[in-house]
Order: sequence, then structure tokens, then C-alpha cells
Amino acid sequence: MAHKWVYLFEEGNASMRDLLGGKGANLAEMVRLGLPVPPGFTCTTEACLEYLNKGNKFPEGMWEQVLEGMEDLGKKMGRQFADPSDPLLVSVRSGARFSMPGMMDTILNLGLNDASVGALAAKAGDRFAWDAYRRLVQMYSKVVLDVDGLLFEDIIHSIKESEGVKLDPEVSVAGWQRAVEEFKALTKRETGIEFPQDPWKQLELAIEAVFKSWNGKRAIDYRNATGISHKLGTAVNVQSMVFGNVGEDSGSGVAFTRNPSTGENDFYGEYLFNAQGEDVVSGARTPTEVHKLKVEAPEAWDTLMKVAKTLETHYRDMQDMEFTLENGTLYMLQTRNGKRTAAATVKIAVDMVEEGLISKEEAVQRVEAFHVDQLLHPRFDDAAMSSAVLLTKGLNASPGAAVGEVYFDADTAAEKGKGGEGHAVILVRPETTPDDVHGMLAAKGILTQHGGATSHAAVVARQLGVPCVAGAEDIKINLKEKFFVVDGITIKEGDLISLDGGTGRVFKGELPTVVPSFDDQTELKTILEWADDIRKLMIWANADDPEQATMARGFGAQGIGLCRTEHMFLGDRTEKFQKAVLAETEEEFERILTDSLLPLQREDFYGIFKSMDGLPVIIRLLDPPLHEFLPNREDLLVEVTRMETLGQTGPELDKKKKLLAVVSDMHEFNPMLGLRGCRLGITMPALNRMQVRAIFEAACDAAKEGTVVMPEVMIPLTAHVNELKKIQPLLEEEAKQVMEEKGIEVEYKFGTMIEIPRAALTADEMADVAQFFSFGTNDLTQMAWGLSRDDAERKFLLRYADENDLGILEKNPFQTLDETGVGQLVFMAVEKGRKIRPDLEVGICGEHGGDPESIEICHRAGLNYVSCSPFRVPVARLAAAHAALKNK
Ligand code: ADP
Ligand code: MG
Ligand code: MG
Repeated sequence: MAHKWVYLFEEGNASMRDLLGGKGANLAEMVRLGLPVPPGFTCTTEACLEYLNKGNKFPEGMWEQVLEGMEDLGKKMGRQFADPSDPLLVSVRSGARFSMPGMMDTILNLGLNDASVGALAAKAGDRFAWDAYRRLVQMYSKVVLDVDGLLFEDIIHSIKESEGVKLDPEVSVAGWQRAVEEFKALTKRETGIEFPQDPWKQLELAIEAVFKSWNGKRAIDYRNATGISHKLGTAVNVQSMVFGNVGEDSGSGVAFTRNPSTGENDFYGEYLFNAQGEDVVSGARTPTEVHKLKVEAPEAWDTLMKVAKTLETHYRDMQDMEFTLENGTLYMLQTRNGKRTAAATVKIAVDMVEEGLISKEEAVQRVEAFHVDQLLHPRFDDAAMSSAVLLTKGLNASPGAAVGEVYFDADTAAEKGKGGEGHAVILVRPETTPDDVHGMLAAKGILTQHGGATSHAAVVARQLGVPCVAGAEDIKINLKEKFFVVDGITIKEGDLISLDGGTGRVFKGELPTVVPSFDDQTELKTILEWADDIRKLMIWANADDPEQATMARGFGAQGIGLCRTEHMFLGDRTEKFQKAVLAETEEEFERILTDSLLPLQREDFYGIFKSMDGLPVIIRLLDPPLHEFLPNREDLLVEVTRMETLGQTGPELDKKKKLLAVVSDMHEFNPMLGLRGCRLGITMPALNRMQVRAIFEAACDAAKEGTVVMPEVMIPLTAHVNELKKIQPLLEEEAKQVMEEKGIEVEYKFGTMIEIPRAALTADEMADVAQFFSFGTNDLTQMAWGLSRDDAERKFLLRYADENDLGILEKNPFQTLDETGVGQLVFMAVEKGRKIRPDLEVGICGEHGGDPESIEICHRAGLNYVSCSPFRVPVARLAAAHAALKNK
């Protein structure tokens, strides 16, 4: 028997998405569920790949199977394809594994020709028949023969103008007849090919066109941008037509079982009376709200509600459905899990747990890191919005705040918005089509003049997470001259506007944004609490002051993994530090440290301990080279030379000269590999001792007030255990002394950063002294790779990691922990360390601590916690739960 290339809908099911594509598999599933679906069959994705691989030839036996399928359709429908006296019409619909909105093209009413249009007219009316025929010629020429779609619109426009009408349904029979003739002539003129009159030829070429469209530019661009594999192929669905345009008791709709924008459990969608499906999505006519059906067609509405319920319960997820009413009878044409905003994702997941449809684990799995990011994304400041110039209000099609320069065509938008250095771009179009997707991908926001909540612009924007305002009918766009006018205000190409996709408002100029409050996001917090029950990793935060610590705690941080003490020398403290550096004697140096720097530092730590009551706080001793806190050597040299040339004298010059001498003395050719971290502490123990004193004085003071403090002192940049052995006892002694002075004991730890490969390699030795490890994966990556953190990305590393450029690396190792390389150091150090000290506390405090993929690696490495910036804490909580579920 020949290979099976064609499946009748009743032969498939939802699990066959790879083979039948998403649309085909779900059509099959709906048939299995006994829902009203017009009969049809699917040519498989395998057939597509085979076709493309074999130099655009149908695989052996496929066409025969298509013929059998058509015969089956004929039997079910009681009329035959290509029968001129009563033709069966079909749609030819593409459908890949993943939904790629509008990427592939659908042809409706296939099977009509000059001979059968009359028969159809006799049965269903002239207007209907000729409208159907002109749609076929139009879609067919556009999709299969690649004629520019705008040329057809031009013809329709001039017909409407000559008939003095505005809307499609108002065009006369003669008008559509004229359209058919002109379309056919246009196609002949543009392509040299006649519109095929043989229905079988129509079918054959249409299936081929869908197959080929898999490798069309639009589809490839979209897959590149969204990371969908090019090796999947698309299926083709051939389905008997039902007609939404045979009268006022007919129509077509697109609906979601819940609101895709807010997640509210409320049927949501749009419906066009007396229309074929593509009229709804194209945005050509503005549809009505779907609830109108409840009044206008109560029976169909009831059926629709039942179908919606069935589908939602069956798929256990919100559905996005396409349907048609033909003379009051409901037909389902598509269903899929609906795209939704971040807010809707979270709300629906929580609601469905409460409704008993899904488990908490599933709910947590349905929310992704980028959803959390989006929910915590900036919004426009309310005060700023109320005083800004409101240009227009359209439909709130995709939420979020976007500020950018206006561009009117996708090419320019893509050009301007390209790459990391690109402009912030807002794409403004009358409406968008799949041809605009590259511009939409590059845009920070999208504004359209026409189209509804399910228009192309809205659907794609929601999927991409790009803010979008659609159907802003007040704006008058002049594409040629590149400007739009609204309310007498002209916005030209390159002008700045601010677009609020959450409310649909568009403002002139650049509005400031505010970060949304985490506290108000009840559902997100619920999801994160469920995530907390699942995850094994603790989430700590990097925070340098009490405000950051409080914020981190508010986001759910369970400790501070990195408190940098650098800022003690910055700002107005630099002066004090310079005094210390210029001290003549060791005693003077220590006295300045104790008198002027210690109190400041103690105050900082006290605040952090108070806000982290009951939680551990890791404080890192001074890490950077000292010269970072002193004036630049060249600047000093210039200044001293200038003063001397001007003949100035006095204490000011003397001080500068002394500083210059100190700074010159400190100069190193490679300061990042120089006197910093523990090396500084070892050569200048007074500095670290002062820091430890400040930490413990603060800790004891707080503890006396009943605060539970858990200070952990971290020694940076160790390479050899002897470094630890040299300094740690000294510091611990200082700590004990403070506690004795204060008359109170607090729990504490001393530990080290692991950020030099040698430290990782000798982790067993390190663990003998250190009570905890914290991987400083920024430095660890820098040193393991021999890459400069400060220059490598700019110079070449981004190109390395760009698949369209050098493509040497899949990921930038500073963004996602390099598991094969640096990861080995981490895994090994954990193992070696725990062997010596089973209760060794291990975490990571580099940028990687907030990156979901790196978090997963940390989970597998068995770390106790990841520490990230306060804003990343919610994402990290979720990512850690995902890691636990993935590695269950
Ligand atoms: P897309 O993937 O772009 O949504 P579809 O294949 O779903 O393309 O087709 C677009 C629209 O065409 C559908 O929403 C539906 O309304 C209409 N359509 C497709 N097939 C049929 C059919 N057999 N009968 C009636 N309408 C159809
Ligand atoms: Mg569809
Ligand atoms: Mg470091």
C-alpha cells in the first residue's frame, strides 16, 4: 500500500499536530467530539516536506488520495466537486504545527468557474454566486499566482465608487460580475496566466501553493524571529465550504472562550453578519461585538456556548475559535488554545485551578518568565498622561507602554529599529498584513487606523508582546507623504509618540513611565506562591542598601546574596576615603577609617539587617581596586601641571600632588587582575577589619532590639586557600571581639566567593575554611573564557552569539551560564565542597542568577539559592519552580 499522505478529519486527532498541523489536528479533534464541522481532509506536513524536497512534485500516491478524499466529501455533501450543475465548493487552508497568524494563505470557494457560477446563482442567488466567484479569483490570483493584492482592492474601490456605495454587501450583481472580468484580465496581464477554469487544476495548484508558502519569505522571517524550526512543513486542509454570506441569518465570527486581554471568564469576540470569515480578520468591515448574537440568533448562540464549554473542558484551556453561521446553523471552522496577554495568562491559569480544570503545577507551567516581566513592565505615569496631548483613542489591542518614533512602512521600521542600538520605533499603518511582520517585530509599538480586536495587527502584537492600539479611526494617514493628521495635529515620520496599549490611548511626544505595583497583582502573587511550594532553590537578592533590600523582600526574596560595600567610598564619602589614603601613618589611616567611615557603614548595615529581619544577609568585603575611588591619574596630572604653570602654591596643590603620587603608585596595567578583593584585605587588613566591625556592631545593635540577624561575611576573589587562612581568622576574631563588647551573640558565617577558576578547582580545600560559597559567575565566566566583561561584547562577543552573523556561539555566556564550560567548574566545586563540608551553603550571585535557563542549571547543580537583582526575584521564583518541575 502507498504511504498515507491524506487523512480524513475523522481519521485524525489532537495529538497528531506534527503530522496534521495545528489546524488539521484540532479540526479532527472537533469531529471526534461530535461538534459541527464541515467535512474535509488533511494533506500531511510529511507530504509538504516530501514535495519541497523532491523539487516541487507531489509525493507518489498523494494526488490519488486527494481524489479519494474529494469523493468522500462529495458523498457526505451530496454534491460533486467540478459538477457544473451543482458544484461542491471547498476551502484550501494551510496549517503548520505552530500557529503562525496569517503567515500562510487560505483560498475559499474553490471549484467555481464560468460554467458553474450560473448554477450556483440559480440555487443561492446571483449576488451571492458572483460575490463568491470574485472572491475565488481574487484570493486565488493573490495566493497562488502572487498578484499584488492591492490591485484587486483598487478595482473594487473603483466599482464601489461608480456604484456610489461604500460596503461590500452593497455592491450590485453587475458590479461583482464586472469585478470577476477585471480580476481575470488583471491576472492575465500581470502573470500571463489565465485563471484556471478546471476545478481540479485549481485544487492541484492551490495545494501546491500552500506547500510552497512554507518557504515563502514571510514565513521564513517569522520563523526566524520566533525560533520555530524550518523543518516542520505545513499541512493543507481541504474542507467543504459553508457560507456565512447567504443572508442576515448567516455570518462569520472569531471568538475566545475568555477575554484574551484581561483573562475575565467572559465570552469575547467579533461577528460580522452576512460575511465570509476572511472579512472579520481582514479588518475591511468593522465587526460587531459577538454578544449581539444572543439577541439576534439565540439558538445559534446557545449552541455556540455549549460548543465553547465543551472545547474548553476538553482542551482544559482557553480556546480561540472561528465559526460560521449558515442560515442559522452553526459550523465550527477552527479552534486552538488562544493567544493571550500576560495578565490574561495569569488570571486564566489561576481561575482554571479554582474551577478544578487544571492543577497548580500546570498553572505554574503555563506562566512563563516573560509574562512576569511584562506584568512588572513600566506603564505611563498617570499624572503625565492626564496632562499630555491626547492624539486619539483606539482599541486597546495589546497592553503595555511604548514610546518611539513614528514610521509608516514596515521596511523603514525594520531598518530603523534593527539591533540593540536601533531607534525605538512605532509602526503606524492603515492596517497590517502578514507582509508587515518584519516591521512589527522591530517595533516597540503598533498603531493602526482600521481593524478590530482580532485584526492581524492585534493578534500578532499580542503574540509578540508588543503594545498595540488598533482601529484608531480618527487618524488620517498619508502613506505617500509619510505623516498622519488627527485633530488638526500633524505627526510626521520620525516624530515621537507614546502609545498605551492597555487603554488604547495615543499621546504626542514622550511620556514618562512608572513601574506597576507588585502588591496589586493578586493573581500573579498566587501563581508565585504556588511556584514557591514547588521550587527547591531559594531566591535571594542582590541589594546594596535598605531600600533595595526592602523592595527585594517585597518581591519575595528569602535573603540577600550579595551586598556590595563599594558605595561606602562613593559620593560624598570619597573625600573621607581620600583623607584615609593620604594618611601619613598606619595609625592615622586606621583612625580615619574608624572615626569617619565606620559609622556610615554601620548605619547602612543596620538598615539592611532591620529590613531583612530573620533572613540571611551576605555582605561582601571591599572588592574593586582602590584607585576606582580616587581621581583619575591623567586628570590629576593635568590639574597639577596647570596649577604649577600658573605658579600656584599652597595646601590645595600639595594635597593634589600627594594624591597624584598615591594614584601613580597604585597604577596597574591590568587592574581587574590586580590588587583587589581579598588581596586588598590581606595587604591592608585594617580596611576589612573596619568593615567587619561595622557589620557586627550593626548586627549586635539590631539583635539587641529583637531583630533576628544572620550576617554572612564574604571574602571576594580568592584563588588559594591560604588567602582565606590568612585573613578569615583575623576577621572572625574582630567579630567575636565586637560581640563581646556588645554583650550579645549573633549567628554568623564566613565564606568566600568562587569566581577564579583556581578556587573552583580547589573547592575542597576552600570548603575546609569557608562556611559558604557564592559563585560570582560574571568573573568566573570572564576568567574561564579569558574574555573581558567590559569590552568583549561590544567588540566581538555579540557577533559570536548572533546566528545571522558569526554564529559561533548559541548564547552569550555572560547572559546564560555556559553549562559545558563554566558549568563544569560550578558542578565540580559544589561536589568537592560538600564532600568536605556537607552543610556548605552554596549560591550564585552573578547576573545569571536572574536568567531562567541559568537558574535551571543551578537547580541541577544542587545550589541552595540564586541571588539576583530585586526586580528579577518574581521571575526567578517562577523559573526555579519550572526547573523543579522539569527535573522531577
Ligand atoms: P487563518 O489561518 O489565516 O486563520 P483559515 O484557514 O482559518 O486561515 O481561514 C480563514 C477564514 O476563512 C476562516 O476564519 C473561516 O472563516 C474561513 N473559512 C475557511 N474555510 C472555510 C470553509 N470551509 N467554509 C467557510 N469558511 C471557511
Ligand atoms: Mg483561522
Ligand atoms: Mg567579582
